[in-house]
Amino acid sequence: VRGSLNGKVALITGASSGIGASTARLFARLGARLALTGRNEANLRKVGKECEREGGKKPILLTGDLTIDADTERVFKGAVDGYQGQLDILVNNAGIIALGGIQKATLQQYDKIMNTNVRSMFHMTQLAVPYLIQTKGNIVNVSSINGLRAFAGVLTYSISKHAIDAFTRCVALDLADKKVRVNCVNPGVTHTELHKRAGLNEKEYEAYLKRARFTHALGRYGEPEEVADCIAFLVSDQASFITGACIPVDGGRH
Ligand code: NDP
Repeated sequence: VRGSLNGKVALITGASSGIGASTARLFARLGARLALTGRNEANLRKVGKECEREGGKKPILLTGDLTIDADTERVFKGAVDGYQGQLDILVNNAGIIALGGIQKATLQQYDKIMNTNVRSMFHMTQLAVPYLIQTKGNIVNVSSINGLRAFAGVLTYSISKHAIDAFTRCVALDLADKKVRVNCVNPGVTHTELHKRAGLNEKEYEAYLKRARFTHALGRYGEPEEVADCIAFLVSDQASFITGACIPVDGGRH
Protein backbone atom coordinates (compact mmCIF):
# COMPACT_ATOMS: atom_id res chain seq x y z
CA VAL A 1 0.00 0.00 0.00
CA ARG A 2 1.44 3.36 -1.06
CA GLY A 3 2.53 5.28 2.03
CA SER A 4 2.66 2.21 4.29
CA LEU A 5 6.36 2.84 5.02
CA ASN A 6 5.91 6.60 5.48
CA GLY A 7 8.24 7.89 8.18
CA LYS A 8 10.38 4.74 8.17
CA VAL A 9 14.12 4.72 7.44
CA ALA A 10 15.45 1.63 5.65
CA LEU A 11 19.02 0.57 4.96
CA ILE A 12 19.30 -1.90 2.05
CA THR A 13 22.63 -3.56 1.22
CA GLY A 14 23.36 -4.65 -2.35
CA ALA A 15 20.82 -2.16 -3.67
CA SER A 16 22.76 -1.46 -6.89
CA SER A 17 21.35 -4.53 -8.68
CA GLY A 18 18.76 -7.31 -8.75
CA ILE A 19 16.67 -8.05 -5.67
CA GLY A 20 18.15 -5.16 -3.66
CA ALA A 21 17.40 -2.64 -6.42
CA SER A 22 13.81 -3.92 -6.77
CA THR A 23 13.36 -3.70 -3.00
CA ALA A 24 14.68 -0.13 -3.02
CA ARG A 25 12.24 0.94 -5.76
CA LEU A 26 9.31 -0.71 -3.95
CA PHE A 27 10.24 0.79 -0.57
CA ALA A 28 10.48 4.23 -2.25
CA ARG A 29 6.97 3.75 -3.64
CA LEU A 30 5.78 2.81 -0.13
CA GLY A 31 7.20 6.04 1.29
CA ALA A 32 10.37 4.91 3.11
CA ARG A 33 13.45 7.09 3.36
CA LEU A 34 16.34 5.04 2.05
CA ALA A 35 20.05 4.44 2.53
CA LEU A 36 21.32 2.24 -0.30
CA THR A 37 24.66 0.44 -0.51
CA GLY A 38 26.70 -1.27 -3.23
CA ARG A 39 30.19 -1.23 -4.70
CA ASN A 40 29.25 -0.01 -8.18
CA GLU A 41 28.68 3.73 -7.86
CA ALA A 42 27.15 4.20 -11.33
CA ASN A 43 24.59 1.43 -10.80
CA LEU A 44 23.79 2.75 -7.34
CA ARG A 45 23.21 6.23 -8.74
CA LYS A 46 20.87 4.81 -11.40
CA VAL A 47 18.82 2.99 -8.76
CA GLY A 48 18.78 6.16 -6.64
CA LYS A 49 17.25 8.09 -9.55
CA GLU A 50 14.66 5.32 -10.11
CA CYS A 51 13.69 5.55 -6.43
CA GLU A 52 13.16 9.29 -6.76
CA ARG A 53 10.96 8.67 -9.81
CA GLU A 54 8.89 6.26 -7.71
CA GLY A 55 7.90 9.28 -5.68
CA GLY A 56 10.47 8.72 -2.95
CA LYS A 57 12.79 11.27 -1.45
CA LYS A 58 16.40 11.33 -2.63
CA PRO A 59 18.07 8.23 -1.12
CA ILE A 60 21.44 8.36 0.59
CA LEU A 61 23.87 6.40 -1.59
CA LEU A 62 26.82 4.72 0.10
CA THR A 63 29.50 2.89 -1.87
CA GLY A 64 31.67 0.32 -0.15
CA ASP A 65 32.85 -3.27 -0.16
CA LEU A 66 31.14 -5.00 2.74
CA THR A 67 33.93 -7.58 3.04
CA ILE A 68 36.11 -4.72 4.31
CA ASP A 69 35.28 -3.91 7.94
CA ALA A 70 36.17 -0.22 7.62
CA ASP A 71 33.86 0.11 4.59
CA THR A 72 30.96 -1.52 6.45
CA GLU A 73 31.48 0.84 9.38
CA ARG A 74 31.72 3.90 7.10
CA VAL A 75 28.63 2.87 5.13
CA PHE A 76 26.62 2.26 8.29
CA LYS A 77 27.70 5.59 9.81
CA GLY A 78 26.70 7.36 6.58
CA ALA A 79 23.23 5.87 6.85
CA VAL A 80 22.52 6.69 10.50
CA ASP A 81 24.17 10.11 10.40
CA GLY A 82 22.14 10.96 7.31
CA TYR A 83 18.86 10.27 9.13
CA GLN A 84 19.77 11.70 12.56
CA GLY A 85 20.23 8.26 14.14
CA GLN A 86 16.87 6.87 13.00
CA LEU A 87 16.87 3.33 11.59
CA ASP A 88 13.69 1.24 11.34
CA ILE A 89 14.53 -1.43 8.77
CA LEU A 90 17.70 -3.28 7.76
CA VAL A 91 17.63 -5.46 4.63
CA ASN A 92 20.80 -7.56 4.51
CA ASN A 93 20.72 -8.49 0.82
CA ALA A 94 24.26 -8.13 -0.62
CA GLY A 95 25.62 -11.46 -1.74
CA ILE A 96 27.45 -13.53 -4.32
CA ILE A 97 27.22 -17.11 -5.57
CA ALA A 98 30.09 -19.46 -6.47
CA LEU A 99 29.84 -22.72 -8.33
CA GLY A 100 31.36 -26.10 -7.50
CA GLY A 101 30.93 -29.03 -5.11
CA ILE A 102 33.42 -30.52 -2.65
CA GLN A 103 35.86 -31.59 -5.38
CA LYS A 104 35.98 -28.17 -7.02
CA ALA A 105 35.43 -25.57 -4.29
CA THR A 106 38.57 -24.06 -2.79
CA LEU A 107 39.38 -22.58 0.60
CA GLN A 108 39.75 -19.20 -1.12
CA GLN A 109 36.23 -19.53 -2.52
CA TYR A 110 34.95 -20.56 0.92
CA ASP A 111 36.49 -17.47 2.55
CA LYS A 112 35.17 -15.11 -0.13
CA ILE A 113 31.64 -16.50 0.03
CA MET A 114 31.51 -16.55 3.83
CA ASN A 115 32.99 -13.06 4.14
CA THR A 116 30.58 -11.60 1.60
CA ASN A 117 27.38 -13.44 2.48
CA VAL A 118 27.69 -14.12 6.21
CA ARG A 119 30.42 -12.08 7.94
CA SER A 120 29.26 -8.79 6.41
CA MET A 121 25.68 -9.55 7.52
CA PHE A 122 26.88 -10.34 11.05
CA HIS A 123 28.86 -7.09 11.15
CA MET A 124 26.12 -4.88 9.67
CA THR A 125 23.53 -6.39 12.02
CA GLN A 126 25.70 -5.80 15.09
CA LEU A 127 26.10 -2.15 14.11
CA ALA A 128 22.36 -1.76 13.50
CA VAL A 129 20.92 -3.49 16.57
CA PRO A 130 21.22 -0.57 19.06
CA TYR A 131 19.39 1.68 16.59
CA LEU A 132 16.71 -0.91 15.76
CA ILE A 133 16.01 -1.42 19.48
CA GLN A 134 15.26 2.32 19.73
CA THR A 135 12.65 2.15 16.95
CA LYS A 136 11.42 -1.44 17.62
CA GLY A 137 12.44 -1.96 14.02
CA ASN A 138 13.08 -5.11 12.06
CA ILE A 139 15.55 -6.98 9.87
CA VAL A 140 15.08 -9.05 6.71
CA ASN A 141 18.00 -11.17 5.53
CA VAL A 142 18.10 -12.42 1.96
CA SER A 143 18.95 -16.11 2.07
CA SER A 144 18.12 -18.66 -0.65
CA ILE A 145 16.31 -21.91 -1.20
CA ASN A 146 19.89 -23.21 -0.82
CA GLY A 147 19.58 -22.28 2.85
CA LEU A 148 16.68 -24.67 3.35
CA ARG A 149 17.68 -27.63 1.18
CA ALA A 150 20.70 -29.27 -0.44
CA PHE A 151 21.49 -28.94 -4.14
CA ALA A 152 24.57 -30.38 -5.86
CA GLY A 153 27.36 -28.16 -7.16
CA VAL A 154 26.96 -25.03 -5.02
CA LEU A 155 28.62 -26.14 -1.79
CA THR A 156 30.13 -22.95 -0.35
CA TYR A 157 27.05 -20.90 -1.33
CA SER A 158 24.78 -23.44 0.37
CA ILE A 159 26.89 -23.38 3.53
CA SER A 160 26.64 -19.59 3.59
CA LYS A 161 22.88 -19.61 3.08
CA HIS A 162 22.31 -22.27 5.75
CA ALA A 163 24.35 -20.02 8.05
CA ILE A 164 22.11 -17.06 7.19
CA ASP A 165 19.00 -19.04 8.15
CA ALA A 166 20.61 -20.07 11.47
CA PHE A 167 21.71 -16.47 12.06
CA THR A 168 18.17 -15.26 11.39
CA ARG A 169 16.55 -17.71 13.79
CA CYS A 170 19.09 -17.09 16.57
CA VAL A 171 19.07 -13.29 16.32
CA ALA A 172 15.26 -13.33 16.24
CA LEU A 173 15.32 -15.03 19.65
CA ASP A 174 18.07 -12.73 20.95
CA LEU A 175 16.05 -9.61 20.10
CA ALA A 176 12.48 -10.77 20.71
CA ASP A 177 12.29 -9.16 24.16
CA LYS A 178 13.36 -5.88 22.57
CA LYS A 179 10.46 -6.19 20.07
CA VAL A 180 12.85 -6.27 17.12
CA ARG A 181 11.69 -8.82 14.52
CA VAL A 182 14.19 -10.73 12.36
CA ASN A 183 13.19 -12.81 9.32
CA CYS A 184 14.59 -14.04 6.06
CA VAL A 185 13.38 -14.74 2.54
CA ASN A 186 14.60 -17.80 0.63
CA PRO A 187 14.28 -17.13 -3.11
CA GLY A 188 14.40 -19.80 -5.80
CA VAL A 189 15.88 -19.04 -9.22
CA THR A 190 15.44 -15.30 -9.70
CA HIS A 191 16.30 -13.32 -12.82
CA THR A 192 19.24 -11.06 -11.76
CA GLU A 193 22.96 -10.60 -12.40
CA LEU A 194 24.00 -13.11 -9.69
CA HIS A 195 24.84 -16.16 -11.79
CA LYS A 196 26.47 -14.28 -14.66
CA ARG A 197 28.76 -12.65 -12.12
CA ALA A 198 29.76 -16.14 -10.95
CA GLY A 199 31.01 -16.89 -14.46
CA LEU A 200 28.03 -18.33 -16.37
CA ASN A 201 28.01 -17.03 -19.95
CA GLU A 202 24.77 -15.86 -21.63
CA LYS A 203 24.08 -19.27 -23.16
CA GLU A 204 24.66 -21.16 -19.92
CA TYR A 205 22.54 -18.66 -18.02
CA GLU A 206 19.66 -18.98 -20.52
CA ALA A 207 19.80 -22.77 -20.10
CA TYR A 208 19.84 -22.38 -16.33
CA LEU A 209 16.77 -20.14 -16.43
CA LYS A 210 15.00 -22.56 -18.78
CA ARG A 211 15.52 -25.44 -16.34
CA ALA A 212 13.37 -23.53 -13.83
CA ARG A 213 10.43 -24.64 -15.97
CA PHE A 214 10.96 -28.14 -14.57
CA THR A 215 12.45 -27.43 -11.15
CA HIS A 216 9.87 -24.88 -9.99
CA ALA A 217 6.28 -26.15 -9.65
CA LEU A 218 4.87 -22.91 -11.08
CA GLY A 219 6.86 -23.68 -14.23
CA ARG A 220 9.03 -20.57 -14.37
CA TYR A 221 11.79 -18.62 -12.63
CA GLY A 222 11.02 -15.65 -10.42
CA GLU A 223 11.50 -11.93 -10.93
CA PRO A 224 13.29 -9.78 -8.34
CA GLU A 225 10.10 -7.76 -7.85
CA GLU A 226 8.39 -10.89 -6.51
CA VAL A 227 11.05 -11.29 -3.83
CA ALA A 228 10.83 -7.57 -3.03
CA ASP A 229 7.07 -7.96 -2.42
CA CYS A 230 7.73 -10.59 0.24
CA ILE A 231 10.42 -8.43 1.86
CA ALA A 232 8.01 -5.47 1.92
CA PHE A 233 5.42 -7.65 3.66
CA LEU A 234 7.91 -8.87 6.27
CA VAL A 235 9.05 -5.34 7.19
CA SER A 236 5.46 -4.08 7.40
CA ASP A 237 3.16 -3.93 10.43
CA GLN A 238 1.07 -6.65 8.73
CA ALA A 239 3.87 -9.05 9.73
CA SER A 240 3.84 -7.91 13.37
CA PHE A 241 3.62 -11.49 14.76
CA ILE A 242 6.26 -13.00 12.45
CA THR A 243 9.82 -13.39 13.65
CA GLY A 244 12.52 -16.03 13.10
CA ALA A 245 10.78 -17.13 9.88
CA CYS A 246 12.56 -18.28 6.73
CA ILE A 247 10.06 -17.86 3.91
CA PRO A 248 10.58 -19.57 0.53
CA VAL A 249 9.80 -17.38 -2.49
CA ASP A 250 10.55 -20.15 -4.93
CA GLY A 251 7.54 -21.00 -7.08
CA GLY A 252 7.38 -24.39 -5.36
CA ARG A 253 10.98 -25.54 -5.94
CA HIS A 254 11.10 -29.33 -6.10
P1 NDP B 1 22.96 -9.32 -8.07
O1 NDP B 1 24.32 -9.81 -8.44
O2 NDP B 1 22.09 -8.73 -9.12
O3 NDP B 1 23.08 -8.30 -6.84
C1 NDP B 1 23.99 -8.52 -5.79
C2 NDP B 1 24.17 -7.25 -4.98
O4 NDP B 1 25.09 -7.48 -3.90
C3 NDP B 1 24.74 -6.10 -5.81
O5 NDP B 1 24.09 -4.92 -5.47
C4 NDP B 1 26.21 -6.06 -5.38
O6 NDP B 1 26.74 -4.76 -5.41
C5 NDP B 1 26.11 -6.49 -3.93
N1 NDP B 1 27.39 -7.02 -3.46
C6 NDP B 1 27.98 -8.18 -3.81
N2 NDP B 1 29.17 -8.30 -3.20
C7 NDP B 1 29.32 -7.19 -2.44
C8 NDP B 1 30.36 -6.70 -1.59
N3 NDP B 1 31.48 -7.40 -1.36
N4 NDP B 1 30.19 -5.52 -0.98
C9 NDP B 1 29.07 -4.80 -1.19
N5 NDP B 1 28.06 -5.18 -1.99
C10 NDP B 1 28.20 -6.37 -2.61
O7 NDP B 1 22.24 -10.61 -7.43
P2 NDP B 1 20.84 -10.83 -6.69
O8 NDP B 1 20.01 -9.63 -6.68
O9 NDP B 1 20.31 -12.08 -7.22
O10 NDP B 1 21.38 -11.15 -5.21
C11 NDP B 1 20.87 -10.55 -4.04
C12 NDP B 1 20.75 -11.61 -2.95
O11 NDP B 1 19.76 -12.56 -3.37
C13 NDP B 1 22.03 -12.40 -2.70
O12 NDP B 1 22.22 -12.55 -1.31
C14 NDP B 1 21.73 -13.74 -3.36
O13 NDP B 1 22.45 -14.80 -2.78
C15 NDP B 1 20.24 -13.85 -3.11
N6 NDP B 1 19.56 -14.84 -3.97
C16 NDP B 1 19.51 -14.70 -5.34
C17 NDP B 1 18.92 -15.68 -6.12
C18 NDP B 1 18.89 -15.60 -7.61
O14 NDP B 1 18.54 -16.61 -8.25
N7 NDP B 1 19.23 -14.49 -8.21
C19 NDP B 1 18.29 -16.86 -5.50
C20 NDP B 1 18.38 -16.89 -4.08
C21 NDP B 1 18.99 -15.92 -3.36
P3 NDP B 1 27.72 -4.22 -6.60
O15 NDP B 1 27.19 -4.80 -7.87
O16 NDP B 1 27.53 -2.74 -6.56
O17 NDP B 1 29.05 -4.68 -6.26
